[in-house]
Amino acid sequence: MTDPDTPVLDNHLHLDPDNGRGLAAVDDFRRMGGTHLIVVNKPSWHLGQDVEGGEEFRPVFDRTLDVVAEAADRLPGTAWPVLGVHPGLVTRLVDDRGLSPERAGDLMIEGLELAADYVAEGEALGLKSGRPHYDVPEAVWEASNRVMRRAFSLGADLDCAVQLHTEESEDLTVVAGWAEETGLPAHRVVKHYASGRLAGPTPSVMSEKDWLQEAAERGDPFLMETDFVDDPDRPGAVLGPKTVPRRVDWLEAEGHAEAIRTAHVETPRLVYGVDTEATLDPGGENG
Ligand SMILES: [Zn+2]
Repeated sequence: MTDPDTPVLDNHLHLDPDNGRGLAAVDDFRRMGGTHLIVVNKPSWHLGQDVEGGEEFRPVFDRTLDVVAEAADRLPGTAWPVLGVHPGLVTRLVDDRGLSPERAGDLMIEGLELAADYVAEGEALGLKSGRPHYDVPEAVWEASNRVMRRAFSLGADLDCAVQLHTEESEDLTVVAGWAEETGLPAHRVVKHYASGRLAGPTPSVMSEKDWLQEAAERGDPFLMETDFVDDPDRPGAVLGPKTVPRRVDWLEAEGHAEAIRTAHVETPRLVYGVDTEATLDPGGENG
């Protein structure tokens, strides 16, 4: 296992204490040497919420804050929530509920504005937005881009990071440019589920060895994640909660100590303004 003084952060996972493994997944992460987590709320539909307006997101966000507080208590470092609206919601609202793309976009913006209130209160670290990773009609694509741009303007107002779920891409400079137009620096935009190279936002690299190796060798800022979904119906859908600590051990064995520091100390500071070293008490389990 890595040196207990080394912060080990999973930048994007979900915890579902009601239907999934919840805190048992946090314990697995910790036992392997994990110290810090960024927990993203599950898509609203996973918790059975039917969205009619921004307020419908509140129980989803509150449940996330509860589980993050419990996770923080179990870690030698801490856990932070990132709240927002999964871009796939647009399809549910348009295809399943028959709403216009415009109306769907408005509802999603209401959800983001509610998430922004939590950031403003210091209860959440950042926002989550993006656009569908699959083909959608032009009007849905436009609505999705409008939602994402609103997330950037909220991030700029709040001076917080915005995590994105987007199509597979190694060049999102256009999107990062939209963020910069609103006053949000490109490095505070994080592409979740990134591969080893990305122009524009900061990549949160899925912890596959090939991608991590590429990111480590490039030397640019990057984060590491699993996108663990904690969904009992999709057990093998993504990487498990032990993966980031395991891959940190592997990076160390490969001689990439500098990249470990980049991904777990320097980039978290650059993107979120958090200090993973000051918030780490190797002897304790309190965040
Ligand atoms: Zn996710």
